[in-house]
Amino acid sequence: MAERETQYDYDLFVIGAGSGGVRAARMASTNGAKVAIAEERHLGGTCVNIGCVPKKLFTYAAHVEEEIEDAAGYGWTVGERSFDWPTLRDNKTKEIERLNGIYGKLLSNAGVTLYESRAVLRDAHTVDVGGEAVTAERILIAVGGHPNRPSEPGAEYGVVSDDMFYLDTLPRRAVVVGGGYIAVEFAGILNGLGVETVQLYRGELFMRGFDDEVRGHLAGEIRKKGIDLRFKTEVEKTEKQADGSLLLHLSDGSTLETDLVLYAIGRSPKVEGLGLEAAGVKTKPNGAIVVDADYRTNVPSIYAIGDVTDRIQLTPVALGEGMVFAYNTYNGESRKMDYRDVPSAVFSAPPIGTVGLTEAEAVAQYGEIDVYRAEFRPMKHTLSGNEERALMKLLVDVASNRVVGLHMVGPDAGEIAQGFAVAFRAGATKADFDATVGIHPTSAEEFVTMREAARRVTREQASAAAE
Ligand code: NDP
Repeated sequence: MAERETQYDYDLFVIGAGSGGVRAARMASTNGAKVAIAEERHLGGTCVNIGCVPKKLFTYAAHVEEEIEDAAGYGWTVGERSFDWPTLRDNKTKEIERLNGIYGKLLSNAGVTLYESRAVLRDAHTVDVGGEAVTAERILIAVGGHPNRPSEPGAEYGVVSDDMFYLDTLPRRAVVVGGGYIAVEFAGILNGLGVETVQLYRGELFMRGFDDEVRGHLAGEIRKKGIDLRFKTEVEKTEKQADGSLLLHLSDGSTLETDLVLYAIGRSPKVEGLGLEAAGVKTKPNGAIVVDADYRTNVPSIYAIGDVTDRIQLTPVALGEGMVFAYNTYNGESRKMDYRDVPSAVFSAPPIGTVGLTEAEAVAQYGEIDVYRAEFRPMKHTLSGNEERALMKLLVDVASNRVVGLHMVGPDAGEIAQGFAVAFRAGATKADFDATVGIHPTSAEEFVTMREAARRVTREQASAAAE
């Protein structure tokens, strides 16, 4: 191949080797671009190192205790048991190091140059990487986000999700502050590993943005598992006591003693010290980089994808954006990322799986909705004695018969929602669901055997009920 004439060191310089950055770099390189990527911390970014992957491994670990409890009903006698946190933590770290290596190989096999150093923007085409000025025709910012920390007195004694993956010891008692994805997932992990867990949420009902019935059902199930879940409660002040424990002063006037406080109160774009001002890149008040539909910032040579743009903070969304950027820029395509009906799962205990609209959104959007629902004890628990109950819900637009929302709380909810998400995107109607033969006996078959609507809701009824 003839050497390309270019005034720049690279065609593309990617800042941040997380899910989105690595995918974009690899795809751009395999489509002929000369690509470099800089990473200051660890290959694979938040998801691989201090997010989705180690969190899921911890979730499996947290579930083992319940499996052992359930074993008796199936005739098994299980002997003495104990849990060793350093074993789990260090086995997890070994697995993550293996994945870091795989990411490194993926990049080098694709011909991408890796700078293991922080990169800072100098101008529209230049980054400073460990003191070296490197130029590129295009720069892609994919630096992700970081957990927010509160500002009340004593908040510095608390930890954030990043820290949870490397704790020296597992606390005897913990308080989780927040009512979103990370809070419910870590409350479930801590509780499952035997930590006395309290979860505090500032509002009336946690998991804002999810279907109301799903939120209520999850709250009930979480409490059954022994988590002390308190709503309308905030931490006003934290004091460190002589024995090292923490004393929380709560908004209801009470105090709470604990050994660890985890703040899981949202994440913000990681833009501090990135040189955005030097390059003239515009941000929103929360720091998120402003991009157009092609992920281009106001500076034409600089692009941004993933959590740093604060659209939907999910790894598969960042991956999708990275692919769209790379194929459109380096393969002449005109792909568009579809942000509608993005399925998601929350790996709480029990988990949530969801795709499409909540009941409130569906009624507001379509005017008349049939709500199909099933609430039951999963078959596995009929012998185990476990009191856990599953909830499954289908929302159907009456006018078109189309399924516009699908929600589940219960075992394997994420796996099940992923499968149905394909039918959902394809525009499946309730009649299509009814015509699909169930797989028996599964929980998932409930979604294709719901015959009678539990209720029909109209926009008028919904707004009257809200008043
Ligand atoms: P979320 O936005 O999901 O939840 C933040 C929670 O913290 C909300 O309950 C919010 O309450 C509360 N909160 C915000 N500010 C304060 C405050 N100052 N004091 C007390 N509570 C506060 O953020 P997470 O940190 O849980 O997760 C970040 C993102 O990461 C998620 O949105 C998700 O996109 C992604 N993620 C996805 C996972 C998955 O796919 N399974 C797993 C983990 C993370 P309120 O509702 O009242 O605003």
